[in-house]
Amino acid sequence: MQLLSDRILNMATSATLAMAAKARELRGEGKDIIGLSLGEPDFNTPDFIKEAAIQAINDDYNSYTPVDGYGELKDAIITKFKRDNGLTYAPAQIVVSTGAKQCLANIAGVMLNEGDEVILPCPYWVSYSDIVKLNGGVPVEVKTSIDTDFKMTAAQLEAAITPKTKMLWFSSPCNPSGSVYSEAELRALADVLVKHPNIYVVSDEIYEHINYKGGHASIAQFEDMYNNTITVNGVSKAFAMTGWRIGYIGAPEKIARACNKLQGQITSGANCIAQRAVITALNESPSKVQYMIDEFKVRRDLILDLLNDVEGFNTNTPDGAFYVFPNISHYFGKTLRGKTINNATDFSLYLLEEALVATVTGEAFGNPDCIRISYAASQEQIIEAIKRIKEAVS
Ligand code: PMP
Ligand code: GLU
Repeated sequence: MQLLSDRILNMATSATLAMAAKARELRGEGKDIIGLSLGEPDFNTPDFIKEAAIQAINDDYNSYTPVDGYGELKDAIITKFKRDNGLTYAPAQIVVSTGAKQCLANIAGVMLNEGDEVILPCPYWVSYSDIVKLNGGVPVEVKTSIDTDFKMTAAQLEAAITPKTKMLWFSSPCNPSGSVYSEAELRALADVLVKHPNIYVVSDEIYEHINYKGGHASIAQFEDMYNNTITVNGVSKAFAMTGWRIGYIGAPEKIARACNKLQGQITSGANCIAQRAVITALNESPSKVQYMIDEFKVRRDLILDLLNDVEGFNTNTPDGAFYVFPNISHYFGKTLRGKTINNATDFSLYLLEEALVATVTGEAFGNPDCIRISYAASQEQIIEAIKRIKEAVS
């Protein structure tokens, strides 16, 4: 009998994590790798949050928490949703999980049956497709390009809907394209969705605060979408808390209760100390972390400026998150330093080997013409990385 399940054998390894591991391994061999593959702020968690965690340890928070999160944390999340997004949720609609990733896995686990279709505007975040497939769902990719700032139009959404469509999953600001849907663009998508009341939306807003043009909009803010939307958020990005592993959802109560039930059999409540720290983080004004967003904006402008000078890197202007997603198909079919580049994976590996810069192939995000470069790195590293890339492709 086969050792491993078909489920795991059919699943792809997370390309972001795989590239980060490869960069770590090469660094271990003494290679001077610049890691621009992982979407992870290079800032430390702010002191006021660290202090809350230390206080929680000293206050002997060490027991299992309620599966769906401490009551005080749910209250802080409810306050945050109201304050930042104009969304009203009751405690029974909130579930706290071990990162937004677990929120997404919970949602897929409680909502998908075999063959249910999930619309994924491309490029999408790397794990969406495999989380959907693991739970029996069928990803339906909707291609976009730089011409539409990598955003799906209402007409494209309409054309992708079939009787089997169960959900639409998207992130805004988007990982990996940095695109931000305006309120009007979301309304146009909502106008299509309201004609299909059996379709649910997963609105992944984890980059909400990392937005350089302001005006974050949540699709659940539209009254006619509220009951069909699961809003996903978390503290990894804006609060520089990736390793603390806290994410949360605001959802229709039936869905939240189902996520609670699933999580109760799989992981129980998220880490108690991290939950206490997040109460403090979310009760503060987002302006407390604006210094990080200001610095990301400087880096965004810097990397766009530098890439402008590299042949064959064609990018949109990302309005949020901390990635650029250049189209590098100019190099397909070309031979660089004896290596033939046939696709984005070849190109990303070429940059790793020849420029010692780690990026991620766009294939993992459903766009095989692009690579993703994270600029959550110091300005010095960004300058050096693009210099090396320029040399490696010239
Ligand atoms: N959604 C998006 C769009 C992401 O980029 C990430 C990456 N961390 C996640 C969800 C998962 O975040 P978390 O660290 O909260 O699991
Ligand atoms: N979300 C980040 C990224 O896209 C972190 C890695 C991951 O969780 O896949 O790189």
